[in-house]
Amino acid sequence: MRIAGRLQAIQADITTLAVDAIVNAANNSLLGGGGVDGAIHRAAGPELLQECRRLGGCQTGDAKLTQGYRLPARFVIHTVGPVWQGGGRSEAELLASCYRRSLAVAAGAGLRTVAFPSISTGIYGYPIAAAADIAVATVAEALKAGASFDAVIFCCFSPEDLAIYQRGLPGSGDWQTQ
Ligand code: ADP
Repeated sequence: MRIAGRLQAIQADITTLAVDAIVNAANNSLLGGGGVDGAIHRAAGPELLQECRRLGGCQTGDAKLTQGYRLPARFVIHTVGPVWQGGGRSEAELLASCYRRSLAVAAGAGLRTVAFPSISTGIYGYPIAAAADIAVATVAEALKAGASFDAVIFCCFSPEDLAIYQRGLPGSGDWQTQ
């Protein structure tokens, strides 16, 4: 799938995107799981798990880079979102940290196009509207602060999630929605 523009939301299977990096909503072990994590490992092949084993896990809110192996994406940025526990356990800060740290890792590697899934809103139970607000606000803030990317994509799995993300996206100026 061809990607253009700076900040956009699309509906797609993230494992099909030919971007510099896709972000994985992983767990602390980085040894694979369900949801988007399982899909990414299946599509990347067993070499991804081999590299992940060498990373020693990942803290909630942090992000780590691997190769993309058999994926069309060159790299995978593994981040660990918070499990939703009602909102009083720093979930919002930890979720924002996932987006900030993932973009910092991408920028550090010189990557220009990055696609995010909707972190924590599947198995981890984060309410989608609140999570989408944090995702859009945190990425927009990073871009305004000078982070330089050709495209940052919110890759939604369902049309319902896409509608929620699109409501939150700025629709003019420097921003572009699809
Ligand atoms: P978490 O454990 O962080 O909640 P999940 O993988 O359970 O992670 O869900 C995160 C989001 O990823 C959900 O919106 C889910 O629908 C979505 N998702 C699952 N598979 C894919 C995929 N192949 N591409 C894009 N998004 C996906």
